Amino acid sequence: MDITAIVPIRAFQDNYIWCLRRGSTAVVVDPGDADPVLDYLSNEGLWLAAILTTHHHGDHVGGNTKLLTKYNVPVFGPAREKIPGITKALREGDKIEVPGIGLELEVFDVPGHTAGHIAYYGEGVLFCGDTLFSCGCGRLFEGTAAQMHASLSKLAALPGRTLVYCAHEYTLSNLRFARAADPGNPAIDEREASARAALAAGSPSLPSTVESELAANPFLRSGNPALAASASRHAGRALTSPVEVFATLRKWKDGF
Ligand code: ZN
Ligand code: FE
Repeated sequence: MDITAIVPIRAFQDNYIWCLRRGSTAVVVDPGDADPVLDYLSNEGLWLAAILTTHHHGDHVGGNTKLLTKYNVPVFGPAREKIPGITKALREGDKIEVPGIGLELEVFDVPGHTAGHIAYYGEGVLFCGDTLFSCGCGRLFEGTAAQMHASLSKLAALPGRTLVYCAHEYTLSNLRFARAADPGNPAIDEREASARAALAAGSPSLPSTVESELAANPFLRSGNPALAASASRHAGRALTSPVEVFATLRKWKDGF
């Protein structure tokens, strides 16, 4: 990978706008707010070369228009959603060469949080927006549990070492639920220790890895017998499929 660094730009309460840097070039993923991006670029002496978008929510696209007034750059985003300033509409299987930084990314359709949500994967890194969080997943605003389960399964099938760049700092609150849903899973303790250490040092708890999520994230473990038993107890009936287990976990967490 030619990029030198993937750096978080903090926005709002808990959003991360991931900034991909190479030399004096920068690309941002999901710039919900333009101002912190413009500050960062000017402080670091960087030029913006492109904007990547995962879905249409304001905290992910709200900065596009203002950024475009200063930088006339391509905007990549989901073909099935309305994205301000979009110039490259993407869908499952598309491959893009990210301008200016020499990074090739592949596009996955990952509906569930929103109907047209996409994720970007390549060269060992994944930008998954609000689909997969560390130890959690996005809420089902526009999709079904079956769709989200299929989307997460796609991401879970990526190589274990894949670095997972989520769009929010939700790890500790997600771990509280993971502990309730999947008691006795030792991977939850390990993930909590690493997240607390990172946060105490002033760093994000991200990126995570696919391997760590497979071990600790209940929403990637709906095929696990212990978790299925736990979800069945919560539902008060025997859940027979991973999708049912997933749907129960998602509802359980909505009210947690
Ligand atoms: Zn969202
Ligand atoms: Fe969001």
